[in-house]
Amino acid sequence: MADTWQDFSNMVLEIFLRLAAVGRPSLNWLTAYHVQVPNTRRRVSGMCIDWLRLEMCVLTSLRFTTGHTVTDRKTGNGEDPLSLSCNPPPSDSLLGSRALVTMPARLLSDLRGHLQRHGWRWLCPPQRAASSDVQPLPPRAQVVICGGGIMGASVAYHLAKLGWHDILLLEQGRLGAGSTRFCAGMVSTVKHISIETEMANYSNKLYQQLEQETGVPTGYTRTGSISLAQTQDRLISLKRMASRLRMKGIPCEIITPKKVGELHPLINIHDLVGAMHVPEDAVVSTADVTLAFVKSARESGAQVHEHTSVNHVLVEKGQVIGVDTDRGQVECDYFVNCAGQWAYELGQSNEEPVSIPLHACEHFYLLTRRLRTPLEDSAPIVVDPDGRIYIRSWQGGILSGGFEKNPKPIFTEGRNQLEIQNLQEDWDHFEPLLTALLRRMPSLEALEILRLVNCPESFTPDMRCVMGESPDLLRYFTLAGMNSQGCSLGGGAGKFLAEWMVYGYPQDNVWPMDIKRFGALQSSRTFLRHRVMEVMPLIYDLKVPRWDFQTGRQLRTSPLYDRLDAQGARWMEKHGFERAKYFVPPGKDLLALDQSKTFYKPDWFDIVGSEVKCCKEAVCVIDMSSFTKFEISSPGDQALDILQYLFSNDLDVPVGHIVHTGMLNERGGYENDCSIVRLNKRCFFMISPTDQQVHCWSWLRQHMPSDSDLVLEDVTWKYTALNLIGPRAMDVLSELSYAPMTPDHFPSMFCKEMSVGYANGIRVMSMTHTGEPGFTLYIPIEYALHVYNELISVGQKYGIRNAGYYALRSLRIEKFFAFWGQDLDAFTTPLECGREFRVKLDKGYEFIGRDALLRQREEGVFKRFTMFILEDHDTDLDLWPWWGEPIYRNGQHVGKTTSSAYSYTLGRHVCLGFIHSPQPITPDFINRGEYQIEIAGQRFQAKAKLYPFSSLFTQRRRKEDLELGY
Ligand SMILES: Cc1cc2nc3c(=O)[nH]c(=O)nc-3n(C[C@H](O)[C@H](O)[C@H](O)COP(=O)(O)OP(=O)(O)OC[C@H]3O[C@@H](n4cnc5c(N)ncnc54)[C@H](O)[C@@H]3O)c2cc1C
Repeated sequence: MADTWQDFSNMVLEIFLRLAAVGRPSLNWLTAYHVQVPNTRRRVSGMCIDWLRLEMCVLTSLRFTTGHTVTDRKTGNGEDPLSLSCNPPPSDSLLGSRALVTMPARLLSDLRGHLQRHGWRWLCPPQRAASSDVQPLPPRAQVVICGGGIMGASVAYHLAKLGWHDILLLEQGRLGAGSTRFCAGMVSTVKHISIETEMANYSNKLYQQLEQETGVPTGYTRTGSISLAQTQDRLISLKRMASRLRMKGIPCEIITPKKVGELHPLINIHDLVGAMHVPEDAVVSTADVTLAFVKSARESGAQVHEHTSVNHVLVEKGQVIGVDTDRGQVECDYFVNCAGQWAYELGQSNEEPVSIPLHACEHFYLLTRRLRTPLEDSAPIVVDPDGRIYIRSWQGGILSGGFEKNPKPIFTEGRNQLEIQNLQEDWDHFEPLLTALLRRMPSLEALEILRLVNCPESFTPDMRCVMGESPDLLRYFTLAGMNSQGCSLGGGAGKFLAEWMVYGYPQDNVWPMDIKRFGALQSSRTFLRHRVMEVMPLIYDLKVPRWDFQTGRQLRTSPLYDRLDAQGARWMEKHGFERAKYFVPPGKDLLALDQSKTFYKPDWFDIVGSEVKCCKEAVCVIDMSSFTKFEISSPGDQALDILQYLFSNDLDVPVGHIVHTGMLNERGGYENDCSIVRLNKRCFFMISPTDQQVHCWSWLRQHMPSDSDLVLEDVTWKYTALNLIGPRAMDVLSELSYAPMTPDHFPSMFCKEMSVGYANGIRVMSMTHTGEPGFTLYIPIEYALHVYNELISVGQKYGIRNAGYYALRSLRIEKFFAFWGQDLDAFTTPLECGREFRVKLDKGYEFIGRDALLRQREEGVFKRFTMFILEDHDTDLDLWPWWGEPIYRNGQHVGKTTSSAYSYTLGRHVCLGFIHSPQPITPDFINRGEYQIEIAGQRFQAKAKLYPFSSLFTQRRRKEDLELGY
């Protein structure tokens, strides 16, 4: 007994020693508690004041006494006063002392846990402690969600809405006590990719009516937002954004600095060149939205258990079968990892780890006291990305935080930390943001700062959240790594994930967020730590076309990397792989010009132009080693059978033939677009886009019979791929192989193992990725340098040179080649992008997507991939298209572009994109329209084409022989 009492005393002492002399906060939420001391009649009672929904709790006027309980009536708030007794007293020096005690919620939680473990009994547990805490966990549930932050709560809410009621939500601390609790609550639709805007827009609409629906006040206030531009480039990026928002039907307007001043009384507008106003953006209390979600889910039957930690997920035969928690095991069919910054550790804790690449950084904002003339709650959110800050109204004062240039990652072995507490204040670190704030709102100089909030938030390698089903474990879903957008995206992301679980796929293309875009390679702690230090500032950095990440580079390289680098290669990265963009000729210092970072004509224009010219007139070599390569084989016909089932084209072709084909889903949409070579009767070589390595692998594995003799091998690392493009490619190769390479001897779309130079066993394929004539060589890596050297050496007399991906991109876009991940996705069918010729409906095999395509053939298509040639666009003076630009037909918005490039052949910009219509789209419909493409608010006339210009082709070949889109 004495021990437990001593423990308690020590605990109180610890709290006491953490006293922080904070000013008396306004009180808006109280929890009274009374604890019965075991085996005695003594009671301890207290009051926990949740301070403005931050995780700070305050015990007011704590007094230590000797031997008896003292009740202090100084709280003066009309509620039960605090009383806390401590016997024996912790130390003489503290006797009779009196202080305002700040107790972080985590300590309160520790205190409660500690007391419970020692047999203390809660007579009146804190208001937020779920009554289910004391109830045993159910032995099984259909789905277990780990994490009671906004994401876990949103998933539970949406699953329940979709009719799943056997849901168990487990939270290690209290609901919303992770990053959610500190959230600044801004719901902004201003996002960099369209699916994020879609999610945020949905969230905004949902939050608006959530209070009415659930009865839980959510603090939803429509404030609108103003994004400021201090530079012309920033204004261009806002104009591009405004076009995108309007496409989604979100009202928004580019406004003058004067108008900014009218919308917000405190903003200094003198350094502004313009701004974007989004009147429907809003603020909420994120913790309360979380509680509202939970309440609704509970009413639909979901069970919620706080103070319950998931230790790891139980797995059998690659599938989730349950969870192990600190309160026992629960069987389940589905598991959802919504563990916020803990998601990474939790993923790693399984016997078969799940890679969830995210890492937490400290994120700061300050709170001021109420202004003398209180700022209205409805004052717009202000985002000043050039100053790296955001500002919103808060309790008559302001809340302002930002994304600093030098973020502080925190290496959290998070499992042992139950609830996030306010981290150390770091005013030196916050100083640049504070300076930016005072510059933007000079009148705040005289203002009293209440406190600096510092809370971890998780960031991912590419600034997009991680969602979807694990590639390795069936029914293991994740929604985490919100990159400080969890409140804005929470509703929408939860909805998409719930749909994914219930229907088997999300209702829109979420590939940019799909967990399968990553592999284990992005999960190194060092990689993550370095990358998130770049990602956090990037949130407010100006993003010009073709920007690249600078950290985590040179992770995957071709054996030729050093050789190409020495020849002037400028690099970009895809799935960790370095790929040359273009080659700076000797003597030309591009870095000094620094015009690459522009919305206008970039400084590499002429360089890429000369690479394109060389591809068309002579021969170029492009290292394409990053492509994903698999081999599938079997002792019998199983390999052919499974591929015929998984792919829409006919793969029962003679040995040596190459087939371009789509890997479709049940809806007929592209899960992958690739080339398959029949190496022999029972072995196939599959070439896919670089970022398909995880997704395609997992799709194949999931559809392959588990008990067959099929062998699937990822051979990406085994081969260097060199693309030899141009009319002289055959001359170079025949000289090196002593074999005739003319189309008569080596027809297009054909593969032969040959010797090139001294190296034997090179897979030479008569296809390029550009629509130009040439070959691709798949070279075992140990021969790569030799073959490359030979090609360059023999190629000299044919004018050979290196080329990069920008040249390839220009060539493929002017040929109207679609690119998976950019133009094609799981919601686009071959019929919608004019690739019927790659679908063999009558090949004698059922294949996935066949029924959907048959239906679509009957009903017609309602969107159509189209090529647009810009007519009145001045390449030198006008803004360049990128992707995501609105397409107008006869003045009506009908779609958006998916990729664009300057065509050196046409001397014009070419955009590819989809036209949508409520009526089936026919070629006639396309041809009859007048088209415009809008670039940053300015519209340019465009000519629409459904087929590429035949004049672009230097050799007469069938379309299917030429097209390869990645
Ligand atoms: C200072 C700050 C300001 C922000 N402002 C904004 C904003 O204005 N707008 C916006 O959109 N976003 C904002 N964000 C981001 C937003 O708050 C987060 O993205 C969001 O709250 C993340 O929610 P979550 O559910 O993923 O994570 P969390 O809220 O951290 O929830 C994860 C939960 O999982 C629980 N958990 C972890 N492991 C286990 C386990 N093993 N067993 C059981 N439970 C477990 C944790 O206890 C935690 O409660 C801000 C973030 C910060 C830090």
